[in-house]
Amino acid sequence: AKKGGRGDWRFFNDAMNAAAKDALAIDGALRCAIEDREFRLVYQAITDAHTGKLTKVEALLRWKSALLGQVPPDRFIAVAEDSGMIVPIGTWVLRQACRQVALWRDGVLGEVTISINVSALQLADPGFVALVRQALADNGLEPHQLELELTERVLIDDAGGVHAMLEQLRELGVGISLDDFGTGYSSLSYLTQFHLNTLKIDRAFVMNIEHSERSHNLVHAIIAMGHSLGLQLVAEGVETAGQAAILERMGCHYLQGYHISRPIPPDELLRFAIERPAP
Ligand code: C2E
Ligand code: CA
Ligand code: CA
Ligand code: CA
Repeated sequence: AKKGGRGDWRFFNDAMNAAAKDALAIDGALRCAIEDREFRLVYQAITDAHTGKLTKVEALLRWKSALLGQVPPDRFIAVAEDSGMIVPIGTWVLRQACRQVALWRDGVLGEVTISINVSALQLADPGFVALVRQALADNGLEPHQLELELTERVLIDDAGGVHAMLEQLRELGVGISLDDFGTGYSSLSYLTQFHLNTLKIDRAFVMNIEHSERSHNLVHAIIAMGHSLGLQLVAEGVETAGQAAILERMGCHYLQGYHISRPIPPDELLRFAIERPAP
């Protein structure tokens, strides 16, 4: 094949333009998405690796745009972060998720912890703690029933401001979870620097534990380290019974992934909890 010709540049250029146009279209459509009620949350079960009991639920955002159709979070979250729109969207997620837990509590689900994903910009807002406190109070929830999932990127974005914010959240009593652990930045220092409750081991490692000795050993080491630091461990992206068995044997506390459940609407999650065979 010919390499380095004008055609390649042209292709690259067109692809860039397409990506930029895409982002522009998403940006435009996002602006009315809250008002037009285009968002909803789906919920993914996180179960006790040992007993199989439902203990936590992660809220995941879904957007069905009137203009663009269903747009996956991997395509619109980054755009919303660039424009700052992630702040009102994140507030909507927080309130909606808390409302849902209160509804479940009044049904048969009882005590579950809800995890929500939080972006750096949300934490940079000095009013964030008040917002969280209010969302909890409005729905009669205890702080420990809410867990905020942050990525390592959030922790390095503005170490000073984020540090103070995390202290306040910790004083309030909400859980802090480090999402996608092991991807991106080398992060061992964060584990002692910030008061975290939970480590979520990224799917990229979990997916290979059955067949790759390296992944297996790495996950084992992460779990051992988590134990020694007194952290709870969640394995993400558990897709097979074999993976679940290995993780349980290694002492991973919680499992999340398609093997347990896909992200599903609230009524289906209720059914999942009811139909779960007794541990
Ligand atoms: P994440 O927080 O790492 O969420 C886990 C993602 O992995 C979800 O994708 C989930 O559907 C998917 N997943 C779960 N189990 C499995 C599995 O067994 N196999 C595979 N292949 N995938 C699995 P989703 O819902 O598309 O979300 C993608 C990302 O978008 C999330 O990654 C999170 O970073 C971001 N996101 C989603 N909702 C929100 C939100 O409300 N706020 C913010 N700031 N970010 C969000
Ligand atoms: Ca997450
Ligand atoms: Ca994750
Ligand atoms: Ca992720």
